Amino acid sequence: MNARVIDGKAMAAELRTELAALVDDMPVRPGLRVIIVGDNPASRAYVRTKTRNAAEVGMDGSLIEMPVATTTGELLAEIERLNADPATHGILVQLPLPEQIDETVVLDAIDPAKDVDGFHPLNVGRLFSAGREIADDLLVPCTPYGCLHMLKKVLGEDALGGMNAVIVGRSNIVGKPMAALLLSVDCTVTIAHSRTRALPEICREADILVAAVGRAEMVRGEWIKHGATVIDVGINRVSGVYGKSHLVGDVHFASASEVAGAITPVPGGVGPMTVACLLRNTLVAAKALTS
Ligand code: NDP
Repeated sequence: MNARVIDGKAMAAELRTELAALVDDMPVRPGLRVIIVGDNPASRAYVRTKTRNAAEVGMDGSLIEMPVATTTGELLAEIERLNADPATHGILVQLPLPEQIDETVVLDAIDPAKDVDGFHPLNVGRLFSAGREIADDLLVPCTPYGCLHMLKKVLGEDALGGMNAVIVGRSNIVGKPMAALLLSVDCTVTIAHSRTRALPEICREADILVAAVGRAEMVRGEWIKHGATVIDVGINRVSGVYGKSHLVGDVHFASASEVAGAITPVPGGVGPMTVACLLRNTLVAAKALTS
């Protein structure tokens, strides 16, 4: 293996330490409310990590659990309550939602000032019209923000300009905001998706390759340019020997790390940074709401 393994866990711990000091200086305790509807085991594990990490940095993080049969109206009523609650500075609705719930209506109902996932159309618009300056008070989607943070740490802020960045995946959660963030640091950005032709060739042009596909180990070593920095956003549960399952990314780690200059592991790469950036957004929201 040649590639440097990017330690997302350590970087997230470092960011949490910085955030804890800033939380300490706040006149109020930032309040994060995480709503989970239903009992998806993976979602339950994610929300527990979010509220636990919030508490670790001194925030008031709490979980609101709603039954799987919750209607759109019931969820909207809960969001309205939290929108009006002065002790709540950040609201996150864990996705995916059960199919009877209209996700767009729900995400649009969150007060944009408390939208710590950065998915409200107003915050999306602000991100895409930010140009080369992403303001410190912008609520940016956590996963791509965490990826950018790691890229800056690994490559250096000034080195990103002019680099070819290829993002595989065009979701609103990862791919599209990742493109906006990489443009803001002057990368030349290509977004690929399921209809992209000659994907391996396009990936081989990338100095920075971000995989956010949801297909286990799809990106192979031979798709990667020598020395490229690879950010693997994917989280895929696959079954292994004796029926035991484990997590892998969208990148085939063993072959990719023979070629890449640096690569994030799964788990322990993007995931922890995503949660740390959620806490950053909660602090940003609390500051704006209490100033
Ligand atoms: P989506 O399913 O919303 O989007 C997947 C994207 O990948 C789509 O744009 C799709 O294209 C594209 N795609 C699918 N198949 C192919 C293919 N064969 N070739 C090229 N492109 C393809 O997923 P998300 O963006 O929400 O998540 C992606 C992955 O990241 C998942 O594994 C998810 O679990 C993980 N994730 C991890 C997070 C973390 O904190 N680490 C946070 C969020 C997500 P098209 O648009 O044409 O359908």
